[in-house]
Amino acid sequence: EFGEISIKDIDQVAKTSFPLCMRHLLEKVKEDHHLKHGGRMQLGLFLKGVGLKLDDALAFWKAEFAPKVSAERFDKEYAYNIRHNYGREGKRTDYTPYSCQKIISVTPGIGDHHGCPYRHFSEENLRAALVRMGVSSRAVEDVMDKVHNRHYQLACTLTFEAVHGSSCDAGINHPNQYFIDSQRVLQ
Ligand code: SF4
Repeated sequence: EFGEISIKDIDQVAKTSFPLCMRHLLEKVKEDHHLKHGGRMQLGLFLKGVGLKLDDALAFWKAEFAPKVSAERFDKEYAYNIRHNYGREGKRTDYTPYSCQKIISVTPGIGDHHGCPYRHFSEENLRAALVRMGVSSRAVEDVMDKVHNRHYQLACTLTFEAVHGSSCDAGINHPNQYFIDSQRVLQ
């Protein structure tokens, strides 16, 4: 675990330290004011791992969904699941954020935004996303090379190295590890 973050920090740390899978989910929830279940789980548990407390998590999702989902409907349909992820409902299991392996192995359906962009994006969308992250055109080719060989986590590692200008010898195997390593480099 890496300290704590509050709602107002999310955009800033997303820009500097979220891996592409989480940047994408955050972008989509802000754009669509909604995310399907798989995306809510993937992003929600990641944010929990990053240090977003339960009350902030509830406020975050409620505010993002607000243009489409009334407060009443939110409390009825979505709040339970968020509390559940924090171990406050049901079996009271404190759920852990998903690893890369788990995220890479899912099969997102139509309208889903979860999954790993290196595995699940079209080549065109992935290239555009990498450019938006500030990856140089030369590094994009190196990343795509890994993708073509189905080395998705290595592709993510190369992206990390390109945007941080720093090596990541251990490789990326968990989105929250990407976040922690990034914060270490930036501090
Ligand atoms: Fe996210 Fe892992 Fe894919 Fe990187 S390799 S985008 S951290 S799932």
